[in-house]
Amino acid sequence: MLPWMHPARVAALEDALARRILVIDGAMGTMIQRHELQEADYRGERFAEGYDALFAAEGHAHGPGCGCEAHDQRGNNDLLTLTRPDIIRGIHAAYLEAGADLVETNTFNSTSVSLADYRLQHLVRELNREGAALARSACDEAEARDPSKPRFVIGVLGPTSRTASLSPDVNRPGFRATSFDELAEAYREAARGLVEGGSDVLMVETVFDTLNAKAALFAIDDVFAEMGARLPVMISGTITDASGRTLSGQTAEAFWYSLRHAQPLAIGLNCALGARDLRQHIDVLAQVADTNVSCHPNAGLPNAFGGYDETPEDMAAVLREFADAGMLNLVGGCCGTSPAHIAAIAGAVAGLPPRAIPRLADAPPELAA
Ligand SMILES: [Zn+2]
Ligand SMILES: [Zn+2]
Repeated sequence: MLPWMHPARVAALEDALARRILVIDGAMGTMIQRHELQEADYRGERFAEGYDALFAAEGHAHGPGCGCEAHDQRGNNDLLTLTRPDIIRGIHAAYLEAGADLVETNTFNSTSVSLADYRLQHLVRELNREGAALARSACDEAEARDPSKPRFVIGVLGPTSRTASLSPDVNRPGFRATSFDELAEAYREAARGLVEGGSDVLMVETVFDTLNAKAALFAIDDVFAEMGARLPVMISGTITDASGRTLSGQTAEAFWYSLRHAQPLAIGLNCALGARDLRQHIDVLAQVADTNVSCHPNAGLPNAFGGYDETPEDMAAVLREFADAGMLNLVGGCCGTSPAHIAAIAGAVAGLPPRAIPRLADAPPELAA
């Protein structure tokens, strides 16, 4: 087993997890939306022409009529790490102020697969590195104000927009829009940047296809081997609807057993559903997983306009009951949540004991295999 890259930070994190339920931040996208940014905000100076002025393929120099095609960047939230770092940093700071122990990097779509939609595949390493560095500096500032409370950066690896184990075309069930190897290559590049930028933990999140997650975990192991040291890894899946399964068809229990070989610091669920609908699935994880359990749900189900209505008080009350039932080690928010939600959740679970991690021998015999 490789040594920890930042042993003192891992010790601080493990110590905090042993004492209390740790709070993860809330949605990044929801907060970015509030700024009502326009195309020019996304582009900034560097991408003013719709492509990267600092990068061109070998042998090409940008100039008037150079032939590079502009591409709309509005909605490319991860690009704001470079073009509006003030906004991203402000969002991290607001969540830390609300009581988050861990903040997630603004890198959900910073893989070559997702950045291809904006023709910015070459930015993977930079977006991940700068995303992590920005979050780390916001955490450092919060720690300087209150040294008694360590703050941690979760380097986020999103699911990408493709699935390795399902066909997007009902007429061609054997077709795949991506492969394990392509995803692993994409995740290696992203993970290198997240580690270089100073992430304390890596999280493979919003997993709807377990094969994509396996590619990410495989890539993370490669990167740790390259660097000769490792970071703790968290995994968070997504139950897509009332079927109670991930998109690739697994129950929460099957999801855990498919990935437990990675020995994650935490396994959990996020997104797609509100806290109420996630309860039974978190309950299952809490029973079968011999590691920390995390939960960061959406603020309820989307309304007719695609917004989320669950109030901070509402959501905090539901999650408090999870904590009372001994199901939680980490808790936060996903789509539709704001610093007000995180403050309410942090207040609701403060002082409640974290879930006791079961030893494997304590599991029911049919699960202890
Ligand atoms: Zn050009
Ligand atoms: Zn979400």
